Amino acid sequence: MKFAIQSRNDQLSNRLMEEAKGYLTDFGLVFDEDEPEIVLSIGGDGTLLHAFHKYQHRLQDTAFVGIHTGHLGFYADWKPEEMEKLVISIARTEYEVIEYPLLEVTINYRNLEKSATYLALNESTIKSSEVTLVVDVELNGEHFERFRGDGLCMSTPSGSTAYNKALGGAIIHPSLPAMQLAEMASINNRVFRTVGAPLVLPNHHKCVLTPVKGPDFMLTIDHLQLLHKDVKSVEYVVAQERVRFARFRPFPFWKRVHDSFIDSDI
Ligand code: NAP
Repeated sequence: MKFAIQSRNDQLSNRLMEEAKGYLTDFGLVFDEDEPEIVLSIGGDGTLLHAFHKYQHRLQDTAFVGIHTGHLGFYADWKPEEMEKLVISIARTEYEVIEYPLLEVTINYRNLEKSATYLALNESTIKSSEVTLVVDVELNGEHFERFRGDGLCMSTPSGSTAYNKALGGAIIHPSLPAMQLAEMASINNRVFRTVGAPLVLPNHHKCVLTPVKGPDFMLTIDHLQLLHKDVKSVEYVVAQERVRFARFRPFPFWKRVHDSFIDSDI
């Protein structure tokens, strides 16, 4: 089996990376950064986001697993002291693959025939390059609302514990193929009105944002941020592609939520 390792690049993560690489090679696995079947991410959830984007062109053939060298992560749920156990499991056991939904974001430009498409593991956010974002929100071809405010965040179920949670969005179990639209400080008064609650959209539904004011936007895709100029519309759907995680032991999602946000000592 071919493997690659993504490190957060701090001292502990780099040391674990070298050790894991040595053990896996001794077990007969082949280090291959171009076409790995399993990617070991060592660092945090942010490190796994980097690994995901590095290998997003071969999601069908790659499974991810994460060790956290800081606090417990949603994508990085193995402890540093469990590294040897994990490495033996990778080398010696058949692993279960768990698939999580992703978000597909398409940006159409005004004066160009071309469009750009991205996959997000956590979320995509949109803000205006000016102060207030003003966009029309369309759901499945029907006008839903005119949004005025700081921005909007469309997240995946596994990303619902990240930025979305800070915006008051719901935590969604990643077995549900869905996407969630959360508001960032919408303007609501007698003149301007938005629904004022996060919307959870199922598979096959489409959300389209059309600029009302200013065609230039700051868009994030997970940790990546880009200024997009002359935007005609931004489209969101639950992606057909899914991310695959290698599971060697049960660690239920709600337990990870509990241990991350409530109490990890019980
Ligand atoms: P980052 O430092 O890599 O991530 C920011 C924090 O979000 C880190 O503590 C990270 O955990 C955590 N995180 C990432 N994915 C998560 C998930 N699925 N569930 C729970 N926590 C998660 O920052 P970055 O590189 O700029 O952006 C990456 C992510 O940061 C974005 O995808 C976004 O979700 C998040 N973010 C959150 C806020 C907010 O909560 N107000 C604002 C901006 C961005 P680790 O320490 O384990 O890496």
